[in-house]
Amino acid sequence: MQENAKKKDRSCWPGLDEEKIKVAYKFNDGYIDFLTQVKTEREVTEQICRLAGDKGFKAIEHIDSIKAGDKILITSKGKVAALAVIGSQPLEEGFNLVVSHIDSPRLDLKARPAYEADGMALLKTHYYGGIKKYQWPAMPLALHGVVVKKDGRVIKVVIGESADDPVFTISDLLPHLAKDQMEKKMSEAINAESLNALVGSRPQSDCDNDPIKTHIMKLLQEQYDIEEDDLTSAELQLVPAYSAREVGLDRSMVGAYGQDDRVCAYSSLMAVLEVEQPIRTALCLFVDKEEIGSCGNTGLQSLLIENIVAEIMHKAGNDNYYSLRQALALSSALSADVNAAVDPNYPEVFEKMNCSFLAHGVVITKYTGSRGKSSSNDANPEFVARIRRLFDEAGVVWQVGELGKVDIGGGGTVAQYIAHYGMEVVDCGVALLGMHSPFEVASKLDVYMAYLGYKAFMQKF
Ligand code: MN
Ligand code: MN
Repeated sequence: MQENAKKKDRSCWPGLDEEKIKVAYKFNDGYIDFLTQVKTEREVTEQICRLAGDKGFKAIEHIDSIKAGDKILITSKGKVAALAVIGSQPLEEGFNLVVSHIDSPRLDLKARPAYEADGMALLKTHYYGGIKKYQWPAMPLALHGVVVKKDGRVIKVVIGESADDPVFTISDLLPHLAKDQMEKKMSEAINAESLNALVGSRPQSDCDNDPIKTHIMKLLQEQYDIEEDDLTSAELQLVPAYSAREVGLDRSMVGAYGQDDRVCAYSSLMAVLEVEQPIRTALCLFVDKEEIGSCGNTGLQSLLIENIVAEIMHKAGNDNYYSLRQALALSSALSADVNAAVDPNYPEVFEKMNCSFLAHGVVITKYTGSRGKSSSNDANPEFVARIRRLFDEAGVVWQVGELGKVDIGGGGTVAQYIAHYGMEVVDCGVALLGMHSPFEVASKLDVYMAYLGYKAFMQKF
Protein backbone atom coordinates (compact mmCIF):
# COMPACT_ATOMS: atom_id res chain seq x y z
CA MET A 1 0.00 0.00 0.00
CA GLN A 2 2.77 2.36 0.91
CA GLU A 3 4.62 1.57 -2.27
CA ASN A 4 1.45 2.19 -4.26
CA ALA A 5 0.90 5.47 -2.47
CA LYS A 6 4.43 6.46 -3.41
CA LYS A 7 3.81 5.41 -7.01
CA LYS A 8 0.84 7.77 -7.11
CA ASP A 9 3.21 10.69 -6.75
CA ARG A 10 5.44 9.49 -9.53
CA SER A 11 4.91 11.42 -12.73
CA CYS A 12 6.65 10.07 -15.83
CA TRP A 13 8.35 13.39 -16.54
CA PRO A 14 11.21 13.59 -13.99
CA GLY A 15 12.43 10.08 -14.86
CA LEU A 16 12.80 10.80 -18.57
CA ASP A 17 15.62 12.80 -20.17
CA GLU A 18 15.08 15.02 -23.23
CA GLU A 19 16.12 12.23 -25.60
CA LYS A 20 13.60 9.72 -24.18
CA ILE A 21 10.82 12.32 -24.25
CA LYS A 22 11.63 12.88 -27.94
CA VAL A 23 11.29 9.13 -28.58
CA ALA A 24 7.94 9.06 -26.76
CA TYR A 25 6.66 12.07 -28.75
CA LYS A 26 7.81 10.41 -32.01
CA PHE A 27 5.89 7.24 -31.07
CA ASN A 28 2.79 9.40 -30.70
CA ASP A 29 3.20 10.86 -34.22
CA GLY A 30 2.40 7.37 -35.49
CA TYR A 31 -0.44 7.05 -33.01
CA ILE A 32 -2.02 10.34 -34.14
CA ASP A 33 -1.86 9.23 -37.80
CA PHE A 34 -3.45 5.90 -36.85
CA LEU A 35 -6.36 7.59 -35.03
CA THR A 36 -6.95 9.90 -37.99
CA GLN A 37 -6.85 7.10 -40.56
CA VAL A 38 -8.96 4.40 -38.88
CA LYS A 39 -12.23 5.04 -37.07
CA THR A 40 -14.13 1.72 -37.15
CA GLU A 41 -13.31 -1.84 -36.08
CA ARG A 42 -13.20 -2.90 -39.74
CA GLU A 43 -10.75 -0.14 -40.65
CA VAL A 44 -8.55 -0.97 -37.65
CA THR A 45 -8.55 -4.65 -38.66
CA GLU A 46 -7.47 -3.75 -42.21
CA GLN A 47 -4.69 -1.54 -40.90
CA ILE A 48 -3.47 -4.30 -38.54
CA CYS A 49 -3.34 -6.72 -41.50
CA ARG A 50 -1.34 -4.22 -43.59
CA LEU A 51 1.20 -3.44 -40.86
CA ALA A 52 1.54 -7.08 -39.77
CA GLY A 53 2.00 -8.18 -43.40
CA ASP A 54 4.88 -5.69 -43.75
CA LYS A 55 6.51 -7.20 -40.64
CA GLY A 56 6.38 -10.78 -41.92
CA PHE A 57 3.17 -12.06 -40.28
CA LYS A 58 1.50 -14.74 -42.44
CA ALA A 59 -2.24 -15.40 -42.60
CA ILE A 60 -2.97 -18.70 -40.84
CA GLU A 61 -4.95 -20.00 -43.86
CA HIS A 62 -1.66 -20.05 -45.81
CA ILE A 63 0.31 -21.94 -43.18
CA ASP A 64 0.61 -25.75 -42.94
CA SER A 65 2.81 -26.09 -39.89
CA ILE A 66 4.11 -23.92 -37.08
CA LYS A 67 7.53 -23.59 -35.46
CA ALA A 68 9.10 -21.32 -32.85
CA GLY A 69 9.61 -17.76 -34.09
CA ASP A 70 6.79 -17.91 -36.64
CA LYS A 71 4.54 -14.86 -36.92
CA ILE A 72 0.88 -15.53 -37.59
CA LEU A 73 -2.15 -13.39 -38.42
CA ILE A 74 -5.71 -14.53 -37.74
CA THR A 75 -8.79 -12.45 -38.56
CA SER A 76 -12.50 -13.06 -38.08
CA LYS A 77 -15.47 -11.40 -39.83
CA GLY A 78 -13.26 -8.46 -40.82
CA LYS A 79 -13.73 -7.06 -37.30
CA VAL A 80 -11.35 -9.08 -35.14
CA ALA A 81 -7.60 -9.60 -35.52
CA ALA A 82 -5.03 -11.69 -33.67
CA LEU A 83 -1.25 -11.58 -34.07
CA ALA A 84 0.78 -14.45 -32.65
CA VAL A 85 4.55 -14.84 -32.34
CA ILE A 86 5.21 -18.50 -31.60
CA GLY A 87 7.42 -19.22 -28.60
CA SER A 88 9.98 -21.95 -28.00
CA GLN A 89 7.90 -23.40 -25.12
CA PRO A 90 5.11 -25.84 -26.09
CA LEU A 91 1.78 -24.10 -26.70
CA GLU A 92 -0.01 -26.18 -24.07
CA GLU A 93 2.10 -24.47 -21.39
CA GLY A 94 0.22 -21.23 -22.07
CA PHE A 95 0.40 -17.92 -23.91
CA ASN A 96 1.06 -14.33 -22.95
CA LEU A 97 -2.07 -12.59 -24.19
CA VAL A 98 -2.80 -8.87 -24.62
CA VAL A 99 -6.41 -8.05 -25.51
CA SER A 100 -7.75 -4.65 -26.53
CA HIS A 101 -11.01 -3.68 -28.23
CA ILE A 102 -11.27 -1.78 -31.49
CA ASP A 103 -14.93 -0.72 -31.44
CA SER A 104 -15.76 2.73 -30.04
CA PRO A 105 -18.98 4.54 -29.11
CA ARG A 106 -20.65 6.15 -32.15
CA LEU A 107 -23.95 6.63 -33.97
CA ASP A 108 -24.97 3.69 -36.19
CA LEU A 109 -27.44 4.22 -39.04
CA LYS A 110 -30.71 2.35 -38.65
CA ALA A 111 -31.65 -0.33 -41.22
CA ARG A 112 -34.13 2.07 -42.85
CA PRO A 113 -32.42 5.38 -42.13
CA ALA A 114 -33.45 7.85 -44.84
CA TYR A 115 -36.45 10.17 -44.63
CA GLU A 116 -37.49 13.64 -45.60
CA ALA A 117 -38.96 16.40 -43.40
CA ASP A 118 -39.36 20.17 -43.62
CA GLY A 119 -37.30 20.55 -46.78
CA MET A 120 -34.43 18.36 -45.68
CA ALA A 121 -33.33 14.75 -45.99
CA LEU A 122 -32.13 13.06 -42.82
CA LEU A 123 -30.64 9.77 -41.61
CA LYS A 124 -31.99 8.06 -38.51
CA THR A 125 -29.42 6.67 -36.06
CA HIS A 126 -29.28 4.24 -33.15
CA TYR A 127 -26.38 5.04 -30.85
CA TYR A 128 -23.78 2.37 -30.07
CA GLY A 129 -22.19 2.19 -26.63
CA GLY A 130 -22.35 4.52 -23.66
CA ILE A 131 -22.54 8.01 -25.06
CA LYS A 132 -23.66 11.29 -23.52
CA LYS A 133 -26.16 12.16 -26.23
CA TYR A 134 -25.77 15.93 -25.85
CA GLN A 135 -22.15 15.64 -27.05
CA TRP A 136 -23.08 14.58 -30.59
CA PRO A 137 -25.11 17.42 -32.16
CA ALA A 138 -23.54 20.53 -33.67
CA MET A 139 -20.33 19.05 -35.01
CA PRO A 140 -19.09 17.64 -38.34
CA LEU A 141 -19.66 13.89 -38.72
CA ALA A 142 -18.18 11.44 -41.23
CA LEU A 143 -19.90 8.30 -42.48
CA HIS A 144 -17.83 5.10 -42.39
CA GLY A 145 -18.75 1.50 -43.05
CA VAL A 146 -19.82 -1.14 -45.49
CA VAL A 147 -22.93 -1.87 -47.52
CA VAL A 148 -23.37 -5.45 -48.71
CA LYS A 149 -25.33 -5.99 -51.94
CA LYS A 150 -27.64 -8.98 -52.39
CA ASP A 151 -25.04 -10.60 -54.65
CA GLY A 152 -22.48 -10.43 -51.82
CA ARG A 153 -20.48 -7.48 -53.12
CA VAL A 154 -19.16 -5.31 -50.29
CA ILE A 155 -19.13 -1.57 -50.91
CA LYS A 156 -16.86 0.42 -48.62
CA VAL A 157 -17.93 3.89 -47.61
CA VAL A 158 -15.84 6.72 -46.15
CA ILE A 159 -17.42 10.15 -46.62
CA GLY A 160 -16.28 13.22 -44.73
CA GLU A 161 -12.59 12.61 -44.08
CA SER A 162 -10.91 14.42 -47.04
CA ALA A 163 -10.83 18.21 -46.94
CA ASP A 164 -13.02 18.39 -50.05
CA ASP A 165 -15.56 15.77 -48.85
CA PRO A 166 -18.93 16.93 -47.56
CA VAL A 167 -19.74 16.11 -43.91
CA PHE A 168 -22.98 15.37 -42.04
CA THR A 169 -24.26 16.97 -38.86
CA ILE A 170 -27.03 16.76 -36.27
CA SER A 171 -28.63 20.12 -35.59
CA ASP A 172 -29.04 21.35 -32.02
CA LEU A 173 -31.73 23.68 -30.79
CA LEU A 174 -30.91 27.40 -30.67
CA PRO A 175 -30.72 28.77 -27.08
CA HIS A 176 -33.47 31.28 -27.90
CA LEU A 177 -36.00 28.45 -28.17
CA ALA A 178 -34.42 26.02 -25.74
CA LYS A 179 -36.00 27.17 -22.48
CA ASP A 180 -37.79 23.84 -21.95
CA GLN A 181 -34.83 21.81 -23.17
CA MET A 182 -32.37 23.60 -20.87
CA GLU A 183 -34.51 22.80 -17.84
CA LYS A 184 -34.41 19.07 -18.53
CA LYS A 185 -31.96 16.61 -16.99
CA MET A 186 -28.82 16.25 -19.18
CA SER A 187 -29.71 12.62 -19.88
CA GLU A 188 -33.07 13.71 -21.30
CA ALA A 189 -32.20 17.00 -23.00
CA ILE A 190 -31.33 15.26 -26.26
CA ASN A 191 -33.73 12.49 -27.22
CA ALA A 192 -32.14 9.45 -28.94
CA GLU A 193 -34.79 9.67 -31.68
CA SER A 194 -33.76 13.25 -32.44
CA LEU A 195 -30.18 12.20 -33.28
CA ASN A 196 -31.00 12.42 -37.00
CA ALA A 197 -28.19 13.52 -39.31
CA LEU A 198 -28.69 16.10 -42.02
CA VAL A 199 -27.85 14.58 -45.42
CA GLY A 200 -29.40 16.91 -48.04
CA SER A 201 -31.72 19.74 -48.95
CA ARG A 202 -31.80 19.82 -52.78
CA PRO A 203 -34.86 18.31 -54.48
CA GLN A 204 -34.85 16.02 -57.47
CA SER A 205 -36.64 17.80 -60.33
CA ASP A 206 -39.78 16.12 -61.73
CA CYS A 207 -40.35 14.24 -58.49
CA ASP A 208 -43.42 14.83 -56.32
CA ASN A 209 -42.91 12.24 -53.62
CA ASP A 210 -39.99 12.97 -51.20
CA PRO A 211 -37.94 14.80 -53.87
CA ILE A 212 -35.00 15.59 -51.55
CA LYS A 213 -34.63 12.06 -50.22
CA THR A 214 -35.06 10.77 -53.78
CA HIS A 215 -32.22 13.00 -54.92
CA ILE A 216 -29.94 11.70 -52.14
CA MET A 217 -30.77 8.10 -53.11
CA LYS A 218 -29.95 8.92 -56.75
CA LEU A 219 -26.55 10.29 -55.71
CA LEU A 220 -25.85 7.15 -53.62
CA GLN A 221 -26.81 5.02 -56.62
CA GLU A 222 -24.62 6.99 -59.05
CA GLN A 223 -21.58 7.43 -56.83
CA TYR A 224 -21.58 4.19 -54.81
CA ASP A 225 -23.96 1.77 -56.56
CA ILE A 226 -26.02 1.72 -53.35
CA GLU A 227 -29.83 1.41 -53.47
CA GLU A 228 -32.12 2.21 -50.57
CA ASP A 229 -32.87 -1.47 -49.88
CA ASP A 230 -29.12 -2.20 -49.67
CA LEU A 231 -29.00 -0.11 -46.47
CA THR A 232 -30.77 -2.96 -44.68
CA SER A 233 -27.62 -5.10 -45.03
CA ALA A 234 -25.07 -2.50 -43.99
CA GLU A 235 -22.90 -1.34 -41.12
CA LEU A 236 -22.72 2.42 -41.43
CA GLN A 237 -21.39 4.53 -38.59
CA LEU A 238 -21.35 8.28 -38.01
CA VAL A 239 -18.13 9.34 -36.27
CA PRO A 240 -16.49 12.73 -35.64
CA ALA A 241 -15.08 14.01 -38.95
CA TYR A 242 -11.98 15.66 -37.57
CA SER A 243 -8.36 14.48 -37.25
CA ALA A 244 -6.55 13.51 -34.08
CA ARG A 245 -4.51 16.45 -32.76
CA GLU A 246 -1.73 17.32 -30.35
CA VAL A 247 -3.19 19.05 -27.28
CA GLY A 248 -1.47 21.75 -25.22
CA LEU A 249 1.12 24.39 -26.00
CA ASP A 250 3.73 21.84 -24.86
CA ARG A 251 2.17 19.25 -27.23
CA SER A 252 2.24 16.76 -24.36
CA MET A 253 -1.20 15.23 -24.99
CA VAL A 254 -3.23 13.63 -27.77
CA GLY A 255 -6.86 14.60 -28.39
CA ALA A 256 -9.05 12.43 -30.62
CA TYR A 257 -12.18 10.41 -31.10
CA GLY A 258 -11.92 6.68 -30.39
CA GLN A 259 -8.97 6.51 -28.00
CA ASP A 260 -11.07 4.08 -25.93
CA ASP A 261 -9.69 1.65 -26.80
CA ARG A 262 -7.55 2.34 -29.84
CA VAL A 263 -4.86 3.74 -27.55
CA CYS A 264 -4.31 0.23 -26.16
CA ALA A 265 -4.87 -1.34 -29.60
CA TYR A 266 -2.19 0.84 -31.20
CA SER A 267 0.36 0.55 -28.39
CA SER A 268 -0.04 -3.25 -28.15
CA LEU A 269 0.06 -3.54 -31.96
CA MET A 270 3.36 -1.63 -32.12
CA ALA A 271 4.64 -3.87 -29.32
CA VAL A 272 3.73 -7.24 -30.87
CA LEU A 273 5.20 -6.17 -34.23
CA GLU A 274 8.57 -5.99 -32.45
CA VAL A 275 8.38 -9.26 -30.50
CA GLU A 276 11.05 -11.74 -31.66
CA GLN A 277 11.62 -15.37 -30.61
CA PRO A 278 9.79 -15.24 -27.26
CA ILE A 279 9.94 -18.20 -24.87
CA ARG A 280 6.16 -18.24 -24.32
CA THR A 281 3.97 -17.59 -27.35
CA ALA A 282 2.86 -13.95 -27.57
CA LEU A 283 -0.74 -13.41 -28.65
CA CYS A 284 -2.05 -9.90 -29.29
CA LEU A 285 -5.80 -9.83 -29.80
CA PHE A 286 -8.02 -7.00 -31.05
CA VAL A 287 -11.74 -7.58 -30.50
CA ASP A 288 -15.08 -6.00 -31.28
CA LYS A 289 -18.33 -5.27 -29.38
CA GLU A 290 -16.78 -4.45 -25.98
CA GLU A 291 -18.74 -1.22 -25.83
CA ILE A 292 -22.08 -3.07 -25.95
CA GLY A 293 -21.22 -5.94 -23.62
CA SER A 294 -18.84 -8.14 -25.66
CA CYS A 295 -21.79 -9.96 -27.21
CA GLY A 296 -22.10 -11.33 -30.75
CA ASN A 297 -19.62 -13.56 -32.56
CA THR A 298 -16.94 -10.86 -32.68
CA GLY A 299 -17.17 -10.11 -28.94
CA LEU A 300 -15.36 -11.87 -26.12
CA GLN A 301 -18.42 -13.55 -24.62
CA SER A 302 -18.27 -15.85 -27.66
CA LEU A 303 -15.76 -18.71 -28.04
CA LEU A 304 -13.46 -16.39 -30.01
CA ILE A 305 -10.31 -16.82 -27.89
CA GLU A 306 -10.85 -20.56 -27.63
CA ASN A 307 -11.31 -20.90 -31.41
CA ILE A 308 -8.19 -18.86 -32.14
CA VAL A 309 -6.02 -20.87 -29.75
CA ALA A 310 -7.50 -24.14 -31.09
CA GLU A 311 -6.66 -23.07 -34.64
CA ILE A 312 -3.05 -22.24 -33.74
CA MET A 313 -2.66 -25.56 -31.88
CA HIS A 314 -4.24 -27.43 -34.78
CA LYS A 315 -1.67 -25.94 -37.17
CA ALA A 316 1.03 -26.94 -34.68
CA GLY A 317 -0.23 -30.52 -34.97
CA ASN A 318 -1.93 -30.67 -31.58
CA ASP A 319 -5.66 -31.46 -31.70
CA ASN A 320 -5.84 -32.75 -28.14
CA TYR A 321 -8.79 -31.21 -26.26
CA TYR A 322 -7.03 -31.40 -22.89
CA SER A 323 -3.99 -29.58 -24.34
CA LEU A 324 -6.27 -26.77 -25.51
CA ARG A 325 -7.84 -26.46 -22.04
CA GLN A 326 -4.35 -26.49 -20.48
CA ALA A 327 -3.08 -23.82 -22.88
CA LEU A 328 -5.97 -21.52 -21.97
CA ALA A 329 -5.83 -22.17 -18.24
CA LEU A 330 -2.06 -21.68 -18.00
CA SER A 331 -2.03 -18.43 -19.98
CA SER A 332 -1.47 -14.93 -18.61
CA ALA A 333 -3.31 -11.91 -19.92
CA LEU A 334 -3.37 -8.14 -19.85
CA SER A 335 -6.85 -6.78 -20.49
CA ALA A 336 -5.65 -3.68 -22.33
CA ASP A 337 -8.33 -1.08 -21.81
CA VAL A 338 -8.49 2.53 -20.69
CA ASN A 339 -9.21 3.96 -17.26
CA ALA A 340 -10.39 7.41 -16.16
CA ALA A 341 -7.72 9.98 -15.32
CA VAL A 342 -8.39 12.35 -12.43
CA ASP A 343 -10.08 15.37 -14.01
CA PRO A 344 -9.37 18.73 -12.31
CA ASN A 345 -12.76 19.97 -13.53
CA TYR A 346 -14.55 17.18 -11.66
CA PRO A 347 -12.37 16.27 -8.64
CA GLU A 348 -15.44 15.29 -6.60
CA VAL A 349 -15.85 11.92 -8.37
CA PHE A 350 -12.25 10.74 -7.82
CA GLU A 351 -10.55 9.23 -4.78
CA LYS A 352 -7.05 10.49 -5.35
CA MET A 353 -5.17 7.82 -3.39
CA ASN A 354 -6.41 5.17 -5.80
CA CYS A 355 -7.40 6.84 -9.06
CA SER A 356 -5.01 7.31 -11.96
CA PHE A 357 -3.46 10.56 -13.20
CA LEU A 358 -2.47 11.76 -16.63
CA ALA A 359 1.28 11.28 -17.36
CA HIS A 360 1.77 9.00 -14.36
CA GLY A 361 2.32 5.90 -16.46
CA VAL A 362 0.33 2.91 -17.65
CA VAL A 363 -2.50 2.02 -15.25
CA ILE A 364 -2.83 -1.33 -13.50
CA THR A 365 -6.46 -1.82 -12.43
CA LYS A 366 -6.80 -4.79 -10.10
CA TYR A 367 -10.59 -4.70 -10.21
CA THR A 368 -13.34 -2.78 -11.97
CA GLY A 369 -17.08 -3.22 -11.44
CA SER A 370 -19.73 -1.25 -9.62
CA ARG A 371 -21.80 -1.55 -6.43
CA GLY A 372 -19.18 -3.56 -4.54
CA LYS A 373 -17.00 -4.85 -7.41
CA SER A 374 -20.00 -6.46 -9.14
CA SER A 375 -19.06 -8.06 -12.49
CA SER A 376 -15.37 -7.47 -11.87
CA ASN A 377 -12.43 -9.73 -12.45
CA ASP A 378 -10.50 -9.09 -9.25
CA ALA A 379 -6.96 -10.00 -10.30
CA ASN A 380 -5.03 -12.39 -8.08
CA PRO A 381 -2.33 -10.57 -6.07
CA GLU A 382 0.22 -13.27 -6.94
CA PHE A 383 -0.22 -12.31 -10.59
CA VAL A 384 -0.27 -8.54 -9.99
CA ALA A 385 3.00 -8.90 -8.07
CA ARG A 386 4.65 -10.56 -11.08
CA ILE A 387 3.42 -7.75 -13.38
CA ARG A 388 4.79 -5.13 -10.94
CA ARG A 389 8.16 -6.82 -11.00
CA LEU A 390 8.17 -7.12 -14.80
CA PHE A 391 7.32 -3.44 -15.27
CA ASP A 392 9.82 -2.21 -12.68
CA GLU A 393 12.60 -4.28 -14.23
CA ALA A 394 11.73 -3.07 -17.75
CA GLY A 395 11.62 0.62 -16.75
CA VAL A 396 7.89 0.91 -17.38
CA VAL A 397 6.36 3.72 -15.31
CA TRP A 398 3.02 2.48 -13.95
CA GLN A 399 0.37 3.52 -11.45
CA VAL A 400 -2.66 1.96 -9.82
CA GLY A 401 -6.08 3.06 -10.97
CA GLU A 402 -9.56 2.52 -9.65
CA LEU A 403 -12.46 3.86 -11.72
CA GLY A 404 -13.63 6.82 -9.60
CA LYS A 405 -14.99 6.83 -6.06
CA VAL A 406 -16.78 3.77 -4.70
CA ASP A 407 -20.52 3.80 -5.46
CA ILE A 408 -20.33 6.81 -7.77
CA GLY A 409 -20.75 4.69 -10.90
CA GLY A 410 -18.40 2.09 -12.29
CA GLY A 411 -17.72 0.04 -15.36
CA GLY A 412 -16.29 -3.20 -16.65
CA THR A 413 -13.88 -4.58 -19.21
CA VAL A 414 -13.31 -7.87 -21.01
CA ALA A 415 -11.13 -9.13 -18.12
CA GLN A 416 -14.04 -11.16 -16.68
CA TYR A 417 -14.51 -13.05 -19.98
CA ILE A 418 -10.79 -13.81 -20.21
CA ALA A 419 -10.76 -15.06 -16.62
CA HIS A 420 -13.47 -17.53 -17.65
CA TYR A 421 -10.76 -19.86 -19.05
CA GLY A 422 -8.86 -19.96 -15.78
CA MET A 423 -6.01 -17.81 -17.02
CA GLU A 424 -4.53 -15.00 -14.92
CA VAL A 425 -5.62 -11.55 -16.07
CA VAL A 426 -5.40 -7.95 -14.92
CA ASP A 427 -6.56 -4.71 -16.52
CA CYS A 428 -3.69 -2.61 -17.80
CA GLY A 429 -4.08 0.45 -20.02
CA VAL A 430 -3.97 4.19 -20.48
CA ALA A 431 -5.81 6.82 -18.42
CA LEU A 432 -8.04 9.18 -20.42
CA LEU A 433 -9.81 12.45 -19.80
CA GLY A 434 -13.31 12.65 -21.28
CA MET A 435 -13.61 8.90 -21.96
CA HIS A 436 -16.44 8.09 -24.45
CA SER A 437 -16.63 11.72 -25.56
CA PRO A 438 -16.03 12.67 -29.21
CA PHE A 439 -12.66 14.15 -28.17
CA GLU A 440 -10.85 12.09 -25.56
CA VAL A 441 -7.46 13.16 -24.19
CA ALA A 442 -4.43 11.00 -23.36
CA SER A 443 -0.89 11.80 -22.24
CA LYS A 444 1.78 11.01 -24.83
CA LEU A 445 4.02 9.54 -22.12
CA ASP A 446 1.28 7.18 -20.92
CA VAL A 447 0.74 5.97 -24.49
CA TYR A 448 4.45 5.26 -24.75
CA MET A 449 4.58 3.54 -21.33
CA ALA A 450 1.69 1.29 -22.39
CA TYR A 451 3.70 0.26 -25.43
CA LEU A 452 6.78 -0.50 -23.29
CA GLY A 453 4.64 -2.47 -20.83
CA TYR A 454 2.88 -4.59 -23.47
CA LYS A 455 6.20 -5.25 -25.19
CA ALA A 456 7.90 -6.43 -21.99
CA PHE A 457 4.90 -8.65 -21.24
CA MET A 458 4.72 -10.30 -24.67
CA GLN A 459 8.48 -10.60 -25.15
CA LYS A 460 9.57 -11.92 -21.78
CA PHE A 461 6.84 -12.50 -19.16
MN1 MN B 1 -12.72 0.37 -23.40
MN1 MN C 1 -15.52 2.18 -23.37
